[in-house]
Amino acid sequence: MNGVPASTQPLKSNSLQIRFPKFLRWGMKMSDSSIVLSLPDQPREFGFFVDGSWSPIESREVFERFSPGHGVPVTRIPKCTDADLDAAVNAARKAFDDRRWSGLSGADRAAVLLKAAEGVRTRAEEIAYWETLENGKPISQARAEVGGCVGMFEYASGLARSLHGDSFNNLGDGMFGVVTREPVGVVGVITPWNFPFLILCERIPYILAAGCTIVAKPSEVTSATTLILAEILHDAGLPAGVLNVVTGSGSTIGQGLIEHEQVDMLSFTGSTAVGRRVVEASGKSNFKKLGLELGGKNPQIVFADADLEDAADGVAFGIGFNTGQCCVSGSRLIVERTVAEKFASMVAEKFRKVRVGDPLDERTQVGAITTDAQNTTIMGYIEKGRAEGATLIHGGEQLDFGHGQYIAPTLFGNVTSEMTIAREEIFGPVLTVMPFDTLEEAVAIANDTEYGLAASVWTKNIDKALVVTRRVQAGRFWINTTLSGGPELPIGGFKQSGWGREAGIYGVEEYTQVKSVHIEIGKRTPWVA
Ligand code: NAD
Repeated sequence: MNGVPASTQPLKSNSLQIRFPKFLRWGMKMSDSSIVLSLPDQPREFGFFVDGSWSPIESREVFERFSPGHGVPVTRIPKCTDADLDAAVNAARKAFDDRRWSGLSGADRAAVLLKAAEGVRTRAEEIAYWETLENGKPISQARAEVGGCVGMFEYASGLARSLHGDSFNNLGDGMFGVVTREPVGVVGVITPWNFPFLILCERIPYILAAGCTIVAKPSEVTSATTLILAEILHDAGLPAGVLNVVTGSGSTIGQGLIEHEQVDMLSFTGSTAVGRRVVEASGKSNFKKLGLELGGKNPQIVFADADLEDAADGVAFGIGFNTGQCCVSGSRLIVERTVAEKFASMVAEKFRKVRVGDPLDERTQVGAITTDAQNTTIMGYIEKGRAEGATLIHGGEQLDFGHGQYIAPTLFGNVTSEMTIAREEIFGPVLTVMPFDTLEEAVAIANDTEYGLAASVWTKNIDKALVVTRRVQAGRFWINTTLSGGPELPIGGFKQSGWGREAGIYGVEEYTQVKSVHIEIGKRTPWVA
């Protein structure tokens, strides 16, 4: 069966079965059983979604995705052609220009977004299952992420109603000024493979709330849940052409989208290297407005007066979550020298206890590395760390479960600021430790990077926490916590971590343009006598 709509595909996520856990917890006996979801009997096949209808794979080439945790084929996705991309952009253009979405009231747009929130809630288990299969993240984490996405739609529905401009009643008796916000137009949305559904939902509801139309291109290795969302929005009453999803590689469909003259804005989330190409393509085409969410090399600053037990747990979570494949992973531990050795041992102890293994096992905390290429990249950095003289305190090896690709949470000590592992984004479960003596030194080390995405500080001294928060250049900051978030708080980076903000009211405003309207009151003062 080729390219049928997502809803007609068999759903495997309800087929729970009990089997022995296939994970490794260092220092723990693997005697207890747990709930592990079954693998699908056959890969699920998807079409792509343009102008309110599904197109089958037909003669198009196909991406066959193998689960990184199990090494078996799980999905088949079409490689769209240039003509498919044009059809998607034209559908979005037409849907924007005829105002079928932007011309609705905020209340009507909110109603669709609320129905979509309900649709995501209803299909949460299905979404989490396919997300886990394609990405390799633990099923419990995928479920939590999908739960968070419901909130994104609900929050954005309120913003659709409350979005407003400004007025100036202080321009004298002859003039009244109004500032309106208008949707920016057709928005291309390109997303990466690390949080395929979450990152999508940090953008799509807000873009729709603003009144824009969309052409989305997910990562070629994790397209399934974007296609499921298209179906949910369609079922929620989103008019045809307002959301279109094309699938394909970055170098073909992605490049075509960023160069397209009919796309007014591009929201790109991914590597800084591709982000540069997006900027170039905008300059060479129609100067489309850009939102860029790029890489990070995020500091975790730990003062000696912190609750060290909390901090060690938070630091381990900050780099272990999503196998460190987060743009906001806390990958640089900067710790006060007086407690540095003790604290590194505490983090290593947490790493020892973390459950790494089968992503379909409900108790797994750290799953598989998402792609072969990323696995090679991470192991290459670990090798480089050793070669450049850092001390391996924990991990550093590939874990063999007989299938899939797994890397043990890894901790390096004796790291200096010149080392490659201290400078480059590894995008894996690798943490480097650097000591500091003064607050000024901690801030200097934290800012010694081309990135500025996120940072955390751990201290019980509010003055220190606030001084560090003010001085460290990062778009997201956490005090005595890490990697928390929600629909209200904006996301985005300083420096080479990107431009613009997603989520919150800022995330809707990002997808609007401001228009100032000057209104003359009464008789005009003549220019020509
Ligand atoms: P990537 O840049 O390789 O790919 C991201 C997306 O861009 C994919 O959909 C890909 O197909 C597409 N793409 C690739 N080449 C393209 C091109 N020439 N033109 C247009 N599109 C193209 O990134 P990735 O490997 O999928 O993700 C990892 C990177 O993403 C890391 O650097 C990470 O820090 C970053 N990231 C950032 C954030 C954030 O919010 N700041 C979030 C997640 C990931």
